[in-house]
Amino acid sequence: MSDCLFCKIAAGEIPSTKVYEDEKVYAFLDIEPKAPFHAIVIPKKHIKSAAEINEDNSGEISAVFKAVSEIAKRENLENGFRVVNNCGADGGQTVGHIHFHLLAGRSLAWPPG
Ligand code: 5GP
Ligand code: ZN
Repeated sequence: MSDCLFCKIAAGEIPSTKVYEDEKVYAFLDIEPKAPFHAIVIPKKHIKSAAEINEDNSGEISAVFKAVSEIAKRENLENGFRVVNNCGADGGQTVGHIHFHLLAGRSLAWPPG
């Protein structure tokens, strides 16, 4: 996707603070953090939203969650963390490339607003 913000970030065309990268996944710090640690974890492959996950691309999502586990170890998130996916307009998704917020470093309220 040539005009996608997160595709450009994953390709290094737009700068970001990288926290993790492998063949399938890129993770970087959120520009407007909602917790002391707030990373955005994305598949490098462009998938629009969680509503588009299917048999053909679910390996990318599996790789994202393996990366989350690895980031949690590297960043010492032993007190716990939250993974959030906002999907579509009502879900609050503002960037049309599937992404998972990894939030940690404070006690997080439940249920969310
Ligand atoms: P959404 O609201 O779609 O679930 O999450 C999009 C997230 O991307 C927001 O938390 C927002 O702060 C973050 N974001 C938007 N643009 C940029 C950017 O250019 N760089 C970084 N690092 N984060 C961004
Ligand atoms: Zn994209």
